[in-house]
Amino acid sequence: MHILLMGPPGAGKGTQAERLVEEFQVPHISTGDMFRAAVKEGSPLGKQAKEYMDAGQLVPDAVTIGIVKEGLAKPECKKGFILDGFPRTLEQASALDEALNELGITLKRVININVPANELLARITGRRICRKCGSTYHVMFKLPSSEGVCDKCGAELYQRDDDKEATVKKRLDVYAAQTEPLISYYKTKGLYAQIDGLQNIDKVFADIVANLRGE
Ligand SMILES: [Zn+2]
Repeated sequence: MHILLMGPPGAGKGTQAERLVEEFQVPHISTGDMFRAAVKEGSPLGKQAKEYMDAGQLVPDAVTIGIVKEGLAKPECKKGFILDGFPRTLEQASALDEALNELGITLKRVININVPANELLARITGRRICRKCGSTYHVMFKLPSSEGVCDKCGAELYQRDDDKEATVKKRLDVYAAQTEPLISYYKTKGLYAQIDGLQNIDKVFADIVANLRGE
């Protein structure tokens, strides 16, 4: 079961990926993990990637694609994977096709957890974190018993810069612009399935599983 998992920041992709791993007994592969592994192993591509990252630069497509190819060639990916965070561009999508083709792997489905932008904005900008113990809260979904104060340790709660409205809006815009062409790409291939990410976590998961099992 080779699956590509897509979804904007704040759609709950990580949680769903974790559950899918359990359900289908396949590894979860994210580009972040593949990068860390390549850098740690000190492979030639890992070394290149590290140079860009250390310089605070974006890792070029060619390097990213190379690292993903190396990652997918590992034996644990033979029977399946949940691939997440890749591809982000059409060039990467066609490079992925090529790589999978070489490995004799056929993608089963591209699952997109869809959540409207205004909902994502509320989810992300509502997050609050404890300065001391790192516990997480939410101004709508998980309020502390006393406003702005951590239940566990009594320290102050704050909003990460990454969770501030202007930053989140920019991230969501970038994501939408990147994703649109990929959606058409996988629709044309008959692989695309959209799941309603506004439902509760269990229902989202049930819908994904039903789709993959062809129910
Ligand atoms: Zn705390």
